[in-house]
Parts: sequence; structure tokens; C-alpha cells
Amino acid sequence: MNYQDKLQKFADLIKRDQAQRFAKDYPNLDQPEVIIIRGNKYAKVDVGGSGAYMVDSEGKIFGVKAYGVIHKRYRYGTLDTIDRLYWGGYVGVLKPLHIKCIGFGNYEGKCQNPPGSSHSKLWCQRCDDIRRGHITKQLLAALTKAKGGL
Ligand SMILES: [Zn+2]
Repeated sequence: MNYQDKLQKFADLIKRDQAQRFAKDYPNLDQPEVIIIRGNKYAKVDVGGSGAYMVDSEGKIFGVKAYGVIHKRYRYGTLDTIDRLYWGGYVGVLKPLHIKCIGFGNYEGKCQNPPGSSHSKLWCQRCDDIRRGHITKQLLAALTKAKGGL
């Protein structure tokens, strides 16, 4: 995929995420246009008529300080990592998918599941079930002990 194609894919992704969010949060508003303006040094990506991102010739994505001026401290990865971010907000944010559960894996190491169980944002369902199982057992044991045994 060449630079122009990647840039177009980036714009399409922003458009898709923005459309999704607008349909959910602002159903009465028009979905914002996403426009690419190629320049000498940077390509500007405008969202809803204002500068949102700027992309350099290597594909690095920056925020915008003032229209046409990159914000060096605001980085959003490169044109090759756009799938890792959600672009429906005011700026791109990492998807929860790329944050891992805080539990341990099935056999060794860290759990690689995305977090989010029915009870917790930090644990995946599997680890949360195990954890809650342990807590229940401990509570029962403590309760049994407190009652002087059953
Ligand atoms: Zn887990």
C-alpha cells in the first residue's frame, strides 16, 4: 500500500469511527466530513472543517497546534498502526483491545485477554471468575472458622 492509499485508509477510518459516534451521541447532527489536504511537508487531515491531524512524509501522525502547524507532543502512531486507535473522539485514543487483563495467563506469564468482565474493567471474564471463586472460598473458610467449624 503506498502513502496515498494509507492516507486514504486513515481518513476512511476516522470517517467510520466519527459516523458511528455521531449516530450514537448526536443522531440529529450531520456526520463530520473528513478531508485530506496534501502539502509539501505534511498532509493535513481535517475533520468537520477544522484541522485534526497532520501526517509527515514518513507516515507519523501528529496533532495540530494551530491550523497547518503540527503539535510535536501529540503523537498518534503512524499510518501503519491506525487500527490500534479509536478515532471517533476529539482525538485518537488507544482501543481497550490493546490494554491487557491484569490477571495471569492459563499456564504462565501475563493474561493476554482484553479486560472487561461483567464485574470489572481490569480483569477479563476468565480471570475474574477465578478471582471471584477464590474470594468466595476464602470468605466461606473465614465464615466457617468464625462459626467454630461446621
Ligand atoms: Zn485475564
